[in-house]
Amino acid sequence: MNLIVVGPPGCGKGTQAEALIRKYGVVQISTGNILRAEIKKGSELGVKAKELIDKGQLVPDDVIIGMMRERLQQDDVKQGILFDGFPRTIPQAHALDELLPELGIELDAVVNIQVSDEEVVKRISGRRVNIETGATYHIVYNPPPEGEQVIQRDDDKEETVRERLTVYRKQTEPIISHYQDKVVDIDGQQPIETVTAEIFAKLESRS
Ligand code: AMP
Repeated sequence: MNLIVVGPPGCGKGTQAEALIRKYGVVQISTGNILRAEIKKGSELGVKAKELIDKGQLVPDDVIIGMMRERLQQDDVKQGILFDGFPRTIPQAHALDELLPELGIELDAVVNIQVSDEEVVKRISGRRVNIETGATYHIVYNPPPEGEQVIQRDDDKEETVRERLTVYRKQTEPIISHYQDKVVDIDGQQPIETVTAEIFAKLESRS
């Protein structure tokens, strides 16, 4: 199974990705997680990326595409891939269209998790992340296990979230029509388990 999961910030992408990984044994490739690891290392890429991420803007396409080209060389991609946070622009989608056939990989579906702007802002204010594992939680809807160390991401501040939403609607949403009949629309404003069940049911009915 090779999937793209797409949706606005706070749509539950990370949480649903975890459920998909458990069910299908796919490897998650999250450009956001790769960039955050670079920031933590203090690499040149990390320093440049942090500036943009903190403003809610996207990292340039050529940087992201180079990073993905390298990541897709690893052997684990053979077990199936879940792309999380990539592609985020039309040029990135075109680059992936070229990369996948070179690797003999075929995309099965694009899971499009739909959530309104209002709901996004409400959710993100409560979002917390475990920076070691990348697991995401919400202080009210999905609290972290007791004792687990979680933080609020710098780019989860309200002003940055509004900018990320604008960027999402303008630059990322157009990729959904690019994938046409591969797209599986999901109502992301339901309880977590209901969203997961809807994703599984819709993916099963396609296979
Ligand atoms: P995410 O964890 O997917 O929400 O990504 C956090 C931030 O990293 C985004 O707001 C962007 O600034 C940057 N980023 C992640 N993935 C991409 C991508 N595919 N293209 C450009 N920027 C990205």
